[in-house]
Amino acid sequence: VTGGLAPSPIVPTVDFQADGVQHGFLRLPHSRDDSAWGAVMIPITVVRNGDGPAALLTGGNHGDEYEGPIALFKLARTLRAEDIRGRVIIVPAMNYPAFRAGRRTSPIDDRNLNRIFPGHPDGSPSERIADYFERYLVPLADVVLDYHSGGKTLDFIPLAAVHELEDAEQQRRSLAALEAFNAPYSLLMREIDARGMYDTAVEAQGKVFVTTELGGAGSASARSVGIAERGVRNLLIHAEILQGEISHRPTRWLHMPDGCFVISEDEGLLEIAVDLGEPVRAGQVVGRIYPIARTGCATVDYRAPLGGVLMSRHVPGLIQTGDCLAVVAVECDPPSF
Ligand SMILES: [Zn+2]
Repeated sequence: VTGGLAPSPIVPTVDFQADGVQHGFLRLPHSRDDSAWGAVMIPITVVRNGDGPAALLTGGNHGDEYEGPIALFKLARTLRAEDIRGRVIIVPAMNYPAFRAGRRTSPIDDRNLNRIFPGHPDGSPSERIADYFERYLVPLADVVLDYHSGGKTLDFIPLAAVHELEDAEQQRRSLAALEAFNAPYSLLMREIDARGMYDTAVEAQGKVFVTTELGGAGSASARSVGIAERGVRNLLIHAEILQGEISHRPTRWLHMPDGCFVISEDEGLLEIAVDLGEPVRAGQVVGRIYPIARTGCATVDYRAPLGGVLMSRHVPGLIQTGDCLAVVAVECDPPSF
């Protein structure tokens, strides 16, 4: 525990050093009207078989994204200690209050867990969760997988991603883990704003970090869940925690050049003009926004800023000013690592 900060108020009901399979909770005290000495109980599974590498697997960082929680609740139920060496820590729903509410952000403090790292032990419930991961769980891990999807307002082609990193060796290890995850698309990712993200916090600790965007629209499909399950199994084999053969399928490598985001400057009814995964030319119309106050108004056309493939799109039928309407990614050669 570092930083001269107070100890976390979160108490685990599992022993991270014990061998075997343990299902328990991260118990976060949360005194409130309906439970005076109550707690938020965040489910956690620890599977350990002696010394060895450790993986930290998380979903529900945003509470309305479902491939991660499905794959991880399933893995927690089925992974046996004798199948692994080292340790696997599974938290299917990191921001558990948000997950219970089906919301991106926590209904307790309205915080977006993925924008408040490193968090604080004396902060709001979401900040306390962030602090616990930052100072207690991430340091236990060699490789960290954090599942995301688009949530209720975005949808993605099924991709796994790592960030562009300054440390060449960490970049190499991250790309190797990304290739092992083996989603249909593998992305070298750029964030709109990386500050406060779990991703950034994990990378700053020198860990191998893989994230995903496997779908979205507030649900999950059989296909996207299958990709999530195959990916985590592949990653655990790659990390030499799980025995077996990595299942390889073709992946298409993408990157995100400057200006790849299409941001709405209008509000109204969105007609998406290109579907996810389809090729787009620079200047091609990707969406039209209809003003909805009256009929007879001109639509506003939104065009692809560059040629590539439609990686992400806005989901709700109505769109607001400032919403991300679409993202165009560019296919590239597999990086060498
Ligand atoms: Zn997310």
